[in-house]
Amino acid sequence: MEFSFTVLGSSAAIPALGRNLSAHIVQHDSNVFLIDCGDGTQLQLDKHKIKKQKINQIFISHLHGDHVYGLFGLLTSYSLFGRVNELEIFAPAGLKEMIDIVFEKSFAFLTYPIKVHLLPTEGFNLIFENNKLSVFSFPLKHRVACNGFLFREKEKPANINPDKIKKYNLDYESIKAIKSGSDYITADGICIPNSEMVFPKQPLRSFAYCCDTAYNLEMVPYLENCDLIFHDATFDKSNQENATLTLHSTSEEAAQIALSANAKKLLLGHFSSRNKSLEVLLQEAKSIFDASFLAEEGKKVVL
Ligand SMILES: [Zn+2]
Ligand SMILES: [Zn+2]
Repeated sequence: MEFSFTVLGSSAAIPALGRNLSAHIVQHDSNVFLIDCGDGTQLQLDKHKIKKQKINQIFISHLHGDHVYGLFGLLTSYSLFGRVNELEIFAPAGLKEMIDIVFEKSFAFLTYPIKVHLLPTEGFNLIFENNKLSVFSFPLKHRVACNGFLFREKEKPANINPDKIKKYNLDYESIKAIKSGSDYITADGICIPNSEMVFPKQPLRSFAYCCDTAYNLEMVPYLENCDLIFHDATFDKSNQENATLTLHSTSEEAAQIALSANAKKLLLGHFSSRNKSLEVLLQEAKSIFDASFLAEEGKKVVL
């Protein structure tokens, strides 16, 4: 089952040096989720062959323009395509009012319903789920209300080995019990451990999105053992003062978070145009957390 993260924009604040503003795709099974929607997102979706109509949930981390100004155009385009399916948007307070005023003043209307869910400002909260995946939000440290997101797979029922069904001539009730974890007792009273009746379970995968944020160890418990963390790495360490002032992170700080959370991989993104070379950011991160990578437009990480 596919679980992947695709970068559509890696630039902070302004599109620069060939880099676009924040927008990212999470694909899980047949679901396509959009995280953030900076200016230019529609063209990036087309360029990287993401089917816009498959997006039914959009997660907006915060209301700074580089994360949200592309949303109004995308919503309008959906109407021009004749969309009818409901679109859910998860965002901090204020987005609903922004959408309403933009559409009112430009006399635009939507052909489909939108439901705007208000993100909680405290704690770790389940905000969305389907039968295979849960999405949680948690607060980040930024100049405005800002949320990180954790996408975590749900526990699946075990897959029973078909050879065992044949061998023991299992009935429906026995199969159901074994799938939910019971051992099997044969007609002769021999106990066959559950682990011999089912295939080993695939480990559950998780992905965390932490952008924009200052260095924040408080969120580490939510990110424990993540397969992939995407983290704000706006500056290199020579710009530490700027990072602290604007509540962004350096790539070293991002690496420290990934290390503390025992993550498998770290993807650095949201780069300031002040960075002359992204290689410096990468090396600074790698000195702390070796499995660090740079976000770049179109890059897809499969979990
Ligand atoms: Zn930003
Ligand atoms: Zn911001």
